[in-house]
Amino acid sequence: MILKIQNIISQMQAVFVDSNKIKTIDAVSIDSRSLQNGSQTLFFALVGANNDAHLYIENLIEKGVQNFVVTHIPVDCAGKANFLIVENTLEALQQFASFYRSLFDFPVIGLTGSNGKTIVKEWLNFLLSPDYNAIRSPKSYNSQVGVPLSVLAINEQHNLGIFEAGISTGSEMGKLEKIIKPTIGILTNIGSAHDEGFGSLGEKISEKLLLFKDSEVLIYQKSEIVDANLFRYENRRLFSWSFKDSTADVFITKSPVLDQTILHIRHVEESFEIQIPFQDAASVENAISCLMVLLYFKYDVTTIQNRMKLLYPVEMRLKVKNGINNCSVVDDSYSSDFQSLKIALDFLESQKQYQKKTVILSDIFQSGLSNEELYSKVAELIISNRISRVIGIGETISAFKDKFTNCITYKNTADFIADFDDLIFSNETILIKGARTFQFEEIVSLLEEKTHETVLEINLNAISHNLNFFKSKLKPATKMMVMVKAFGYGNGGFEIAKLLEHHKVDYLGVAFADEGISLKNLGIQLPIMVLNPESTSFSAIIQHQLEPEIYSLKGLRAFLKIAEQKKLKNFPIHIKLDTGMHRLGFEANTIDDLIETLRGNKTVEIKSILSHMATSDDENHKDFAESQINLFEKLSSKLMVELQIKPIRHILNTSGISNFPASQFDMVRLGIGLYGISNDAEEQKYLENVGTLKSIISQIRTIPAGDSVGYGRRFVAEKPTKVATIPIGYADGISRAWGNGNGYIAIKDKKASIIGSVCMDMLMIDITGVACNEGDTVVIFGENPTVNYLAEKLNTIPYEILTSVSQRVKRVFYRE
Ligand SMILES: *Cc1c(COP(=O)(O)O)cnc(C)c1O
Repeated sequence: MILKIQNIISQMQAVFVDSNKIKTIDAVSIDSRSLQNGSQTLFFALVGANNDAHLYIENLIEKGVQNFVVTHIPVDCAGKANFLIVENTLEALQQFASFYRSLFDFPVIGLTGSNGKTIVKEWLNFLLSPDYNAIRSPKSYNSQVGVPLSVLAINEQHNLGIFEAGISTGSEMGKLEKIIKPTIGILTNIGSAHDEGFGSLGEKISEKLLLFKDSEVLIYQKSEIVDANLFRYENRRLFSWSFKDSTADVFITKSPVLDQTILHIRHVEESFEIQIPFQDAASVENAISCLMVLLYFKYDVTTIQNRMKLLYPVEMRLKVKNGINNCSVVDDSYSSDFQSLKIALDFLESQKQYQKKTVILSDIFQSGLSNEELYSKVAELIISNRISRVIGIGETISAFKDKFTNCITYKNTADFIADFDDLIFSNETILIKGARTFQFEEIVSLLEEKTHETVLEINLNAISHNLNFFKSKLKPATKMMVMVKAFGYGNGGFEIAKLLEHHKVDYLGVAFADEGISLKNLGIQLPIMVLNPESTSFSAIIQHQLEPEIYSLKGLRAFLKIAEQKKLKNFPIHIKLDTGMHRLGFEANTIDDLIETLRGNKTVEIKSILSHMATSDDENHKDFAESQINLFEKLSSKLMVELQIKPIRHILNTSGISNFPASQFDMVRLGIGLYGISNDAEEQKYLENVGTLKSIISQIRTIPAGDSVGYGRRFVAEKPTKVATIPIGYADGISRAWGNGNGYIAIKDKKASIIGSVCMDMLMIDITGVACNEGDTVVIFGENPTVNYLAEKLNTIPYEILTSVSQRVKRVFYRE
């Protein structure tokens, strides 16, 4: 993209404030943290419920960005950059994208539906790639922000677009339609239930169909309810398929063969068969949506057959894994195109676990650019993202090796693997990014730390979602401390702290000094409060700039003594008041002594005053909770008046945020909610599951009636029973109380009851009637069964289940 600012002002009805800066743009950004924001970037300052990008403009100007779309010019920024002032920056982004789309005239496939959009998009791209230079939405960029950004990545060499549109409420599709302007429409699976945000299934369908307002054709699975909503589009060509209705344009029957499906197709006068390597209903439907496009494009039967049988499972996540020699590995080994390289590099930056960064990169396909241009652009990206080393794999990237500094190349993956032992990987972050044909999964498995097959998978998107959910409950000025004690409630301390830093929370909280020291040593810069600092750790706390919570006069005096010896000035401390929890804190009758000890003191500064509630989660104790809040208000006010200070005050934990919104004071302390757990069934619906504890089946056997399983023969089979052994036991944190028929393990959503006693490292389950094989994945907790469910059945609380997962279980972090 190269555009003149003058040409786009009117497109967004902007008022232009010209400061004589560069007036051409070659890229658009909404992410202030991206390292890809250059001097010709047009930055849209979006304003969300939780974040206002205007706050980062000054910083971006320092980094060289010169053009901004804003609602107002932030203080101190006037004259330092060009500004396009608009009423609403998101709408301006959308208007700009829609204008940009109008500059191109090639077929554009628009996809919407409740399920399958991203898969159909990826598959279409794969099926059509031999013949087209397609631009497609990266990952699942299908929202009000994602769609404009996807469209803005079109360039002159593209000759086909594939974009998906996702909506969550009525009235959103109209905006996306104007941006995508699909010429070919595909309605993927629409689901049966009506989603939240729509009055009925019919309403949802008719809203989705708005995407195809002006397209020349609509491809869909024939059904009464869709047909009933099509009345508005009389002129448009419909191209339908069906398993049941032989009046559809394409009539299909299917028969499963081994692990494949044969589709028998009847289209116009023609009948033929194709084979696809899947059996599940969703994959079959998605493959048919793709088939319909190939038919519409008039591909011949042999080409269709040859290409469709190569469809593959789509991996949409970027995964972060622990690597060998203390590396961390970002696995994006299934795609390589310019757009997704940009996204992966931004992800790498948000993770920045190590200074040293290596990218292992295959040839890049389908950029629409000449190789010369493409690899120059890739080299620019590599430099702006401060990548220390590039390992290129493939004939083409090898030919352009000179564009990179510190780069080695190999002709193919096998050559790289042969050389592997001579390459050094240690204490660095490694991004592995390659097209499928390069089989980079082999490289991932070489670089990945080997442990046993039990893993706790952590969904980083879900953490961001949950954080934003609770942020949205706060008043704009309320600060947020997030509790990452006990290794982030068992989910992973550093990775989560890193993500929270990225989201600019205000404080982290840990229980002990050690936890804080390890976060600081790994480079976390957010201020960290230590809830329970032992006096033996005071020196270390000071040395690592942690902030102690002081809860007694004895502790205060001990801390002051050390702080005075070290001649500290205004060292930040936090004062904990006991308002009824009776765990830690100054009680009402010690406040006067506290005031006298601190009056006039310059060694320490009271950053905050806090207290903790005993019953914020329990309606029955609402009066008690309110008495705590009142006492907190009274005692903290007294401290503030007497000491003439204005510290941050905070008392609410997760359930407090939900149940006592009027008592946010200046900050809240979010804990369990971040990890996706609420004790309120209604609120739980809005949270996303964060952790999934998974293992595999080590061995399967069938035992006859009368035989027993495990220690003490506590399970005796009443009938022939199929038994599977799972390599996870109480040493991994699975309570023994979960054994002996009390609990279950999920295998592809089927329940397999735990039989006999849970052993230290293993447990056995009854899989009679459950289709599964050795090596299959099983789920101990996650979406099903949930941590809440386990906690209830085991008579404990979710906190205990989460923090019990032992440290020998490998944590794998990923993003959707
Ligand atoms: C753990 C903790 C929190 C967070 O509690 P959640 O119920 O997990 O939200 C807040 N404050 C203090 C003092 C804590 O110890």
